[in-house]
Amino acid sequence: MSPHVIIPVTEIGRARSVATPLGDVPATGLLRDQLGRPLTDLRISVTDRCNFRCSYCMPKDVFNKDYDYLPHSALLSFEEITRLARLFTQHGTRKIRLTGGEPLLRKNIELLIEQLAQIRTPDGAPLDLTLTTNGSLLKRKAAALKAAGLNRVTVSLDGLDDAVFRAMNDVDFPVADVLAGIEAAHAAGLGPIKINMVVKRGTNDQEILPMARHFRNTGVVLRFIEYMDVGATNGWRMDEVMPSSDVVARIAAEFALAPLQASAPGETAQRWAYADGGGEIGVISSVTQAFCQDCSRARLSTEGQLYLCLFAHRGHDLKPLLRGNASDQQILSSIGHIWQGRADRYSELRALRGPDTALPADSPRRVEMSYIGG
Ligand code: SAM
Ligand code: SF4
Ligand code: SF4
Repeated sequence: MSPHVIIPVTEIGRARSVATPLGDVPATGLLRDQLGRPLTDLRISVTDRCNFRCSYCMPKDVFNKDYDYLPHSALLSFEEITRLARLFTQHGTRKIRLTGGEPLLRKNIELLIEQLAQIRTPDGAPLDLTLTTNGSLLKRKAAALKAAGLNRVTVSLDGLDDAVFRAMNDVDFPVADVLAGIEAAHAAGLGPIKINMVVKRGTNDQEILPMARHFRNTGVVLRFIEYMDVGATNGWRMDEVMPSSDVVARIAAEFALAPLQASAPGETAQRWAYADGGGEIGVISSVTQAFCQDCSRARLSTEGQLYLCLFAHRGHDLKPLLRGNASDQQILSSIGHIWQGRADRYSELRALRGPDTALPADSPRRVEMSYIGG
């Protein structure tokens, strides 16, 4: 094998690729980063577009008709995505989550799922294949997604009150249609279904208890996410973050809760069971309790940039390798070197500075969540 492995590095808006004389990184499935973390989880964004304008993610005044979305030619094809997914699997990836933007807006997404569902880990197991969606197209697509080989879905839902929900998505989308999508996913066998609720204090925190009551005893796992300072456009303020401890206290005041063990290493949610057997909830405390030490997630943007952290301002461009004539081993080695160099732990460092520390004015612009996916 050539000792000249191409390590592509791209800064947003300023692409450069460098050929670095580094050796091969064999695919042992045991790849570790600088902090000893494996690469078990890959999130793939399949579009940077969305039909919602959640203010915490794609605020309307920024993501308007003048916004520069990626042209179709810049998107990775399904074949390119599948090739990368197969190579990641050889480095130890077991779980792939499709995301966006809104992944169900990507035309023929079922065909991509069919291809990904064929991949086997080195020990012959299929991937854990999931998708995060706003649910708006789920009623129409759930059965086809299941037939294509998708295992599960996570649906984002920020409240049950129609007026609150329409205001949160900011395109006046009715909550009933998302609930119908969740029903369809359940009927299609895309479970256990998870629901993600981003809690913004003063905007939808009054929905915490109605959501808990609604999803108890249904088998659906409701997870509350702290509003995060991702990207550079959502005008994040610490006083709008509702700490997970407050969410748990509110629910525990009505229903007794008991802590549960993490179901897998690197799991982002802390889990709680209803003491009466009514199921479980989870809280994702990205702001108040960093979980970087177990973070085994890589993120692949719609155009093939590999991001090592949700809060990164720079990705590593894999597209030139895919569209050049790099061999599988060269791409494996590049991914290997990139991961071996990873030391990202943004949330931990922010917690050390103090959680409400504003981003320094001279910080590079961070990537948007709708670009790399949640
Ligand atoms: N459009 C799909 C959806 O909403 O489920 C997938 C992409 S979305 C970027 C993935 C997840 O990120 C969603 O659950 C969303 O609620 C979450 N998210 C987006 N911006 C966030 C923020 N500022 N803080 C916390 N979670 C956020
Ligand atoms: Fe769209 Fe999901 Fe972002 Fe909301 S959170 S704007 S649904 S990508
Ligand atoms: Fe992982 Fe970065 Fe989030 Fe830490 S801040 S858990 S390293 S994505």
